[in-house]
Amino acid sequence: MAADIGVTGLAVMGRNLARNFARNGFSVAVHNRSRAKTDALVSEFAHEGTFVGSVTAEEFVASLSTPRKIVIMVKAGAPTDAVIDELTPLLEPGDILVDGGNAHFADTRRREAALKEKGIHFAGVGISGGEEGALLGPSIMPGGSEESYAALGPLLEKISAKVDGTPCCVHVGPDGAGHFVKMVHNGIEYADMQLIAESYDLLRQGLDISPKELAGIFRGWNSGELDSYLIEITAEVLDQVDAATGKAFVDIVLDQAEQKGTGRWTVQTALELGVPISGIAEAVFARSLSGHAEQRAAAADLPGPRGGRVSGAVAETLVEDVRLALYASKMVAYAQGFDQIIAASKEFGWNVDLGATATIWRGGCIIRARFLDRIREAYETSGDLASLLVAPFFAKALEQAQESWRRVVTTAVELGVPTPGFASALAYYDGLRRERLPAALIQGQRDFFGAHTYRRVDREGSFHVDWSGEREENPA
Ligand code: NDP
Repeated sequence: MAADIGVTGLAVMGRNLARNFARNGFSVAVHNRSRAKTDALVSEFAHEGTFVGSVTAEEFVASLSTPRKIVIMVKAGAPTDAVIDELTPLLEPGDILVDGGNAHFADTRRREAALKEKGIHFAGVGISGGEEGALLGPSIMPGGSEESYAALGPLLEKISAKVDGTPCCVHVGPDGAGHFVKMVHNGIEYADMQLIAESYDLLRQGLDISPKELAGIFRGWNSGELDSYLIEITAEVLDQVDAATGKAFVDIVLDQAEQKGTGRWTVQTALELGVPISGIAEAVFARSLSGHAEQRAAAADLPGPRGGRVSGAVAETLVEDVRLALYASKMVAYAQGFDQIIAASKEFGWNVDLGATATIWRGGCIIRARFLDRIREAYETSGDLASLLVAPFFAKALEQAQESWRRVVTTAVELGVPTPGFASALAYYDGLRRERLPAALIQGQRDFFGAHTYRRVDREGSFHVDWSGEREENPA
């Protein structure tokens, strides 16, 4: 019997994805560069469904029904190209190659264009949810042609996470759109994690409370507007006690956060597109700073406050203030992420449905949160929102949060607790709503030193002042 779908690359992600397909009733052809992983999968999980193991790429391709649908789950980068190069000569026009790895969207665009010439569909598909998601139902962000989605979509929707019966899988758009949206998802994840970490730090310092007590606070937040996977696991992590020392787990972990690179890609791409995603950028930079151990050690004696307990009215409202600051800053991070998707969608002609994209992230992925329903509603109500923040629900929530947000940033500054996420999100919010920005002065400076010209508020055209002469204004 020819298999419905193939998976090549059977490390943690590929193996679990193959099992997910099989558990959902699809017959799955499985293949891996080195044979051991294929054999292990087939022998360990044969009871879960139908697996067709193969050793060579030729056997693998021959074991699939046509048009062939092959999911590549190998290490992103050169290994993906190597697998594509190996499989392509064995495929026929109409076959579909899917890259489920964390590819850069520009690589996906390049690969899609090259394979299109051979009549082969290449679908870059973002998959989130890690190992467990791959097995139990990930959030899936498929790119590629409409035609490839018509064949592939029903399988992907079947294995994806579901929320209220709706699959967390929607065709995002052509070529690199799926991987782009996955990249932004990861960027938002960075921001969300940073904001939660700042909340923890400020509350711990300001109220002098234990990780266990903090776990309780986060657990409480999880039953309200902030209900999300990341808040839920934060409570779990804070509750954890290290068996060896009896100390709070969070106190025995080295405070240097790692990054795999998708956060950096998000920021690099935003710079190229000219989209201010300051919340995500601060989160990426905060991780970089954490990793600069020698610099941090050298600077440890620099003057300034070092935390300390707050008192009086500040102490009374700090928990609720931090909750609202987190909520507001999170809105900013999402608004910026969606702005980046909008910019790319325009740049590359993807026509991404923003409301549908918000539904993909409601389940199965790291940033799943109750709040995504509100984002979906906002974009479904008004597809051309200037910013998510001006949608009525968000504008009202920001109105309710903004005083707390300011108190939190003020308290953090006074205590010397770094909150780049909160502070930059607030600065972005204030920048966005400011009637006139000091960019006017910057334009003046630019015209002064570089004759870059400026535009006026009261007349059309470009102008330049003769700064070194009579300082007269002339049309440029
Ligand atoms: P890895 O990224 O660790 O990759 C290992 C797999 O790649 C193995 O099957 C390996 O084969 C294969 N491979 C490496 N080089 C080559 C090559 N030159 N030719 C053929 N095969 C090669 O596996 P993961 O399962 O962690 O991730 C798979 C993909 O999914 C990656 O792109 C990753 O970024 C992405 N991803 C991972 C997530 C996670 O939580 N881990 C979450 C979401 C996406 P061999 O056994 O022969 O060495």
